[in-house]
Amino acid sequence: MITEKEFKEEVIKWAEKIGVEPKEIHIREMKNKWGSCSSKGRLTFAKDLLNETSGKRAEVIVHELLHLRYPTHNRLFKALQKAYLNHQ
Ligand SMILES: [Zn+2]
Repeated sequence: MITEKEFKEEVIKWAEKIGVEPKEIHIREMKNKWGSCSSKGRLTFAKDLLNETSGKRAEVIVHELLHLRYPTHNRLFKALQKAYLNHQ
């Protein structure tokens, strides 16, 4: 298990790598999903992620951060997600 502070540091590290700037990063209890991204650049992550493996956390973090740039799961979105996660 990692702390909320450590989790946010991971998000910031990934944001720098991807080149996006989340306006706000929140962690709270969520049902049925791992994260969300608002149109205003506010990211919310499920508290349960703190108990997940680093691989799972990276998957969710990269997914939500890419939404800051690409709103839909189009081909480019999927290609970039795969590329970032294969080169951690
Ligand atoms: Zn998505």
